Amino acid sequence: MLSSLAFSGSTLFGLALGRHSRMTTLGEVMYLERDYHPNLQCSCGERLGECPMWSRVVKQANSQSVDVQFKFDKKWKGVDFDKKGFNFYKFLLINGFRPQRIYRDDQIENYRIRNGNFFNLMGKEFPDTEYFVDLSKTPERMEVLMGSPSIDAYYIHLRRNLKAVYKSNLSRRKMTRKGWGFKMLRESYLLHARERHRRKVFDRVPKSKRITVDFDLFKAQPMQEYRHVLNWLNLQDEEIKDPRSLSIKKQHLYLGNRWLFSSDPNYDVQISESSQKVELNRLERMSFNIFKTLLNPNFKD
Ligand SMILES: [Zn+2]
Repeated sequence: MLSSLAFSGSTLFGLALGRHSRMTTLGEVMYLERDYHPNLQCSCGERLGECPMWSRVVKQANSQSVDVQFKFDKKWKGVDFDKKGFNFYKFLLINGFRPQRIYRDDQIENYRIRNGNFFNLMGKEFPDTEYFVDLSKTPERMEVLMGSPSIDAYYIHLRRNLKAVYKSNLSRRKMTRKGWGFKMLRESYLLHARERHRRKVFDRVPKSKRITVDFDLFKAQPMQEYRHVLNWLNLQDEEIKDPRSLSIKKQHLYLGNRWLFSSDPNYDVQISESSQKVELNRLERMSFNIFKTLLNPNFKD
């Protein structure tokens, strides 16, 4: 499972991992159920109803006869911490309340069973895959699944310069009418609070089950960083020439970024080699630093 903030390159990096024959990238598993629709397009170019991977998975999952099943169904409501957007519970979570204190035991337990169920099914359907890559990213999911006896999870922290992530967040159009000054502070607060939360949970993962990859370093020296991850996962090196070209048409993601989808059969995406230098203006820098000082004083970005 990837551990990173939004806009940290997790989809790109996840697809790079998915090029390995023993790894299959699934996208954000926490949204698979609710966002599924047979007419949605898959990155392979097919509709989901025709996609060789998902049509099979959905058929298997929806015909299971277990109590708590993973079901590809829009009506599935899920638990709060899988919901998009920000709410009171998320506020509690990013400020250090553990999910176990906010949600009932049976909700937590069901969540573990359902997800364990799903990964079990995937393991049976795709016996060549040793690792399924989950791009869900949220620390609360990580924390809950960490305690699952049926999921053997490894966590990759994809690190990206926080100022760059902040700048990406500011450039998005969300709620701009609330005023730019306020937005700068709000985004800075959320960024640092989320990062603090992410780090806290990540640090609780046993050392052998976690690794940090710097996304900018990966862009500059892809083979070195890629091998580093393969070694850690005990996987063979496969002579992939450049993991920055993603072979999108051979992979099956249906959630997220629009650049994933194209009807052109030769379409592909390449991760750029260089990272742009990020310059914050004075107000942005001040807003960034206020919450950095308050929330992550010892953290180097
Ligand atoms: Zn597909």
